[in-house]
Amino acid sequence: MEPKEDLLNLSTQKFVEFLKDNSIRRFYFVYDRKKKKVVSSHKQLQQIADFINSDKRDFNFHEGMFFQVTKNYDTLQSAFVHRTNRGQAAGGVRYWSYNSFEEYLRDGLRLSKGMTHKNALAGLWWGGGKGVMAYNPSYDKNDPEVRSSIYKEYGELMTSLCGCYVTAEDVGTNVHDMANIFSATRFTTCIPFNLGGSGNPSIPTARGVVAGMKAAIKFLKKGSLKGKTIAVQGMGNVGGPLIKYLFDEGAAKVIACDVSTNNVEKLKEELKGKSFEAYVVGFDDSSILEQECDIVSPCATGAILNDRTIPFIKAKIVCGAANNQLEDPERDGRDLHKRGIIYVPDFLTNRMGIVNCANEQYGYVNNDPAIEMHLQTGWKHSIHQACLAVLAESKRSGQSTSKIAVKIADKLSKENHPIFGHRGQQIIDSLVENGWFNE
Ligand code: NAD
Repeated sequence: MEPKEDLLNLSTQKFVEFLKDNSIRRFYFVYDRKKKKVVSSHKQLQQIADFINSDKRDFNFHEGMFFQVTKNYDTLQSAFVHRTNRGQAAGGVRYWSYNSFEEYLRDGLRLSKGMTHKNALAGLWWGGGKGVMAYNPSYDKNDPEVRSSIYKEYGELMTSLCGCYVTAEDVGTNVHDMANIFSATRFTTCIPFNLGGSGNPSIPTARGVVAGMKAAIKFLKKGSLKGKTIAVQGMGNVGGPLIKYLFDEGAAKVIACDVSTNNVEKLKEELKGKSFEAYVVGFDDSSILEQECDIVSPCATGAILNDRTIPFIKAKIVCGAANNQLEDPERDGRDLHKRGIIYVPDFLTNRMGIVNCANEQYGYVNNDPAIEMHLQTGWKHSIHQACLAVLAESKRSGQSTSKIAVKIADKLSKENHPIFGHRGQQIIDSLVENGWFNE
């Protein structure tokens, strides 16, 4: 029987209770290519399938969405597989708090689509996917026993999905959690260095941002980073090394800020003698974006480019590592374009996080060409070339750079893997045929 309550509005824990009352531990929604709609594994969940089918905002013909409630600690976990033409769906697993199941579902749909675009634009032979886990407030998420149990169960979920999704680290997940996932599956990247993983991606990410900046400067025919002034928001794992690279490139001045006094003081000490100004800010202080400078580089949090900040930006280029910088991609992308500010799309320039761990299974070499080619100027999918292509098409068409980048990425994401073809879809078909949710 279909439930009377609105399942989408339930809190994630109330939704878990509903599932348990209905003896549902695993369930899925997959896109049925014959029926041309999303179908549900359980008729009790049909209203969710109907919601996905009618959604125009975040649903984008996702191939499959797979969920489970953990055996211990009642945690809702999932794998969102958006598109797998280029290869298995790849993207990190987010461990976060959600107000409702709808919020949870939307995050998974949106983030997995974003990974399809990031991976395709990077020329990686990976599809796009994302994992999502909701905090269960009844348990302490920092308790090592709770964490190791739920992440091991997440690894079991990966194993059950037979490789249509390969997970990685994301917000709320750390390197120890990745080791726990790895103990239960081979379908993960971003495992710790001492287990054969690729280690911290922040340095390559900072280098990727530098490559994006250089491409934007070249596009504007303004020479190089030499003599430029750059304002950096956030002096963390990416922002800190980025500032040092900017001085290596001959920047005339760097202005930076952070909410952490410690980060500010530490870097000031390290960069004594350089033309470096840094100050401590409150969380809602975006004055760094208003600095007189050539480039603004958001390297802290998302949604900082919006109708409250964009009118005050004086720089001609915005290029940084932070994810989802545009609060409203359509509105804010258009506004930046209208104002003649070059916005280097975040998912283009911050790709090195995923690039760094994408090919762990192929081993490591010094100055790895599989990584370096993204940072050089020659390769057609390098940050440099991709950036120039996006900026040129944006100028030609009058559309925002973010819109153009998504268009190019979307086209690339539909190319089939040269050896394995659209295998992720075949895996999903097999899972459905085998009654995956009964396992
Ligand atoms: P981090 O947590 O090490 O650094 C972020 C820094 O920003 C911290 O020092 C924090 O104190 C500061 N901060 C937070 N809010 C601020 C605010 N309102 N104003 C000024 N400073 C603020 O994170 P990170 O690894 O350096 O990543 C930075 C951004 O880049 C994040 O959005 C992350 O998702 C994104 N990103 C990182 C990588 C990577 O390889 N680390 C890859 C892709 C994308």
